[in-house]
Amino acid sequence: MTIYFQLPFADKEQAKGLGARYDHDHKLWYAPDPTTEQRMAEHWKRLPQVFPGEDRTWGSTPRLSVDLIPSTCWHTNVRSSVSSDDWKRIADGVKARAGFQCEVCAAKADPAAQVFLEAHERFEFADGVQRLKRLTCICPACHQAIHFGRSVATGQEPAARAHLLKVNGWTEWELEQHLRQAYAVWSQRSQQAWSLDLSIIEAIGVAVKLPTPEERKRQGVELPPRP
Ligand SMILES: [Zn+2]
Repeated sequence: MTIYFQLPFADKEQAKGLGARYDHDHKLWYAPDPTTEQRMAEHWKRLPQVFPGEDRTWGSTPRLSVDLIPSTCWHTNVRSSVSSDDWKRIADGVKARAGFQCEVCAAKADPAAQVFLEAHERFEFADGVQRLKRLTCICPACHQAIHFGRSVATGQEPAARAHLLKVNGWTEWELEQHLRQAYAVWSQRSQQAWSLDLSIIEAIGVAVKLPTPEERKRQGVELPPRP
């Protein structure tokens, strides 16, 4: 597996000097051979390929599922709790280890068609704790289906429904059952407060600082799912 490195622009000449190559498609550096890789690893921290404690099978049944974030958790997530540099490093690592394709539907990035892959956070909600279980690389169509509530509010519902039907091979009835269940879970979870556990991120040495209520407010309120 190719190990990618996200390096500061200022380190360009140093990287070349060590034998690193630049991947223009992914905008990341990589080592063409194990010796160079070792030299680069000594100079720069690797992109995280593994998050200790992560469950990479979490939430993979059904293949694509609607995952409505409780209204009491909006804006408490990894992206809002780490520096933008760290978020980029994490997201780049998640995309690289997935081989730059959607881990749900296998779509690849296609910049010409405005298709860019994204890192997505999957949480467990139990005993008052919103715990990060997994990070996945997904395409915009899958992201739209997962955040179904937002898609309904922004007029993207037909596309989100079509993608869920296609990826899961569902009938309309199966989709309705899934949506009903997802909304029931959302409604129940939105009635309580959750504390955020990002320990799998902290385990790779990234500093985590949860946003204050004021910062969350400033980011605006997400549109609620339909009742
Ligand atoms: Zn996808």
